[in-house]
Amino acid sequence: MPTPADRTLAHVLADHVAARPAQVAYEYLHEDGRIDSITYGELWRRACGLAGQLPKEGPALLLYPPGLDLVAAVWACFLAGVPAVPTYPPLMGAADRIAQRFARILADSGATSLLADPAILALIPVGDVPLPPVISEAGEPVEPKVLPRPHDVALVQYTSGSTGQPKGVVLDHANLVANIRAISDVFRVDRDIRVISWLPPYHDMGLIGCILTPGYGGFPVRLMSPVHFLRQPLDWLRQISEMGVTHTGGPNFAYDLCVRRARGADLSGLDLSQWRLAFNGAEPIRPGTLRAFAERFAGNGFRPEAFLPCYGLAEATLIVTGRHFSPEDGVAEDGRVDCGPAVDGHSVVVVDDGTPAADGENGEIWVRGPSVCRGYWNDSDDRSFGELDGERYLRTGDLGYLRDGHLFVTGRSKDVLIQSGVNFHAHDLESAAVDGHPALRPTAAAFMVERAGGEEIVLAVELARAGADVDRAEIAADLKTRVLAATGARVDIVVVCPPGAIPRTTSGKVQRSLARTRYAAGELRGEVIGDRAVPVE
Ligand code: ATP
Ligand code: MG
Repeated sequence: MPTPADRTLAHVLADHVAARPAQVAYEYLHEDGRIDSITYGELWRRACGLAGQLPKEGPALLLYPPGLDLVAAVWACFLAGVPAVPTYPPLMGAADRIAQRFARILADSGATSLLADPAILALIPVGDVPLPPVISEAGEPVEPKVLPRPHDVALVQYTSGSTGQPKGVVLDHANLVANIRAISDVFRVDRDIRVISWLPPYHDMGLIGCILTPGYGGFPVRLMSPVHFLRQPLDWLRQISEMGVTHTGGPNFAYDLCVRRARGADLSGLDLSQWRLAFNGAEPIRPGTLRAFAERFAGNGFRPEAFLPCYGLAEATLIVTGRHFSPEDGVAEDGRVDCGPAVDGHSVVVVDDGTPAADGENGEIWVRGPSVCRGYWNDSDDRSFGELDGERYLRTGDLGYLRDGHLFVTGRSKDVLIQSGVNFHAHDLESAAVDGHPALRPTAAAFMVERAGGEEIVLAVELARAGADVDRAEIAADLKTRVLAATGARVDIVVVCPPGAIPRTTSGKVQRSLARTRYAAGELRGEVIGDRAVPVE
């Protein structure tokens, strides 16, 4: 990208507006097929019309469904130099949980304004939580007199909340530009690429990767909602085919979902041959998924080299490592997928006991570079940062190893289960249990609970269909055998839950510690099978 790093997204938008005001910047595909679009000129006017109303004393909370209003609101904050705090709207009916999250983020961020779609705000049972002034209509567009500087806060990006309460990561404009430039480099972004995204547009992959990176690079992107994708995953593939999309992707589960929904579907007209970059990140990458997807869609022109496994986290803006998949040696002997080297200008070190681990040795993943956040909002605690050779590093809490500078992620330190002195990663047990299981959803949660005389491993799984006529005891026995054979771990208790009972973040990640808390309190809905007294196969 030719744009110098010291210019913020606001400067870059002003450049695009001057150079190509009539070019479409964003499109939004509704589920019924209607398409909204907005040009750079229109985006500028709408963003200026909102920016002029934003109080400058504090951040602005954003509450919108996926769509162009959200996009304009984010850019409005950038133009005004006001930190944007995107929050999830109640998309899938979980209004109470969304309301709790909303109230927490409202209080934690100290937002002094609320940019919101009034219809969505009305859906949130906020009770008597006092709201800051609500801004929902763009006023007269007033051009900003000053644009933000690189070290002004751009975004307070809340983490997904997989391991605890979401934390507000403070990202300044320089962080955003650094990461967008790194993404543009790894993804070989240019003005001719075609992009579609169904990812939740509220944080890293969906917002930074698929809304801000196109806005920075000056190429259009078509957006659709995550709910649309979850209902009709093949619509994503049809769009890729119709638009000749070159760059799109999602977490591992998205590829799984497509394979499952494609069973028996007529995909004869589907052409995926233009798709040259299929990123896969945000969750553990399963080699079986890559294989199944590549095989299922080979006849539609999909090539496995298009996969781009990547690793990242909110604290590093978005991407940390990534590279195109190699069908020959992209999967290590232990089944971990090669997530590539650190992106340009960044470094990744695996640390064991305070010192860098040797090649191939496991440890905690530490990251340094211009995309790493300065810290958490409202939090001076530096526990997530460490020092190595006098340099400040982000301690990710993720585990993995490096081989020839390429990162292989093995798990999270909070999700390690220790049985008889042996370490197991929760997701390895889950994957061994439910991958390809005909009666179960691909979601599971493995965790340890204390019990008189020691600890035991609990595995919660979800039935594929509510009220399915299945023998739960037989399923439990089968899962224990599968897990033991694949990993060597002994599962003590299986909880067979109805669909949707395992808690997940708003972005769909399994919340193991919350599942554990609920289980311990007897609040995890499901049939508990197994007991210490029962011998384990
Ligand atoms: P919280 O920090 O609130 O518990 P979170 O860590 O899930 O939630 P994000 O920052 O959105 O929130 O997600 C980043 C995390 O996702 C990483 O720390 C890592 O655990 C996981 N992750 C990302 N990419 C990969 C990958 N390629 N393989 C395995 N895990 C990944
Ligand atoms: Mg995290």
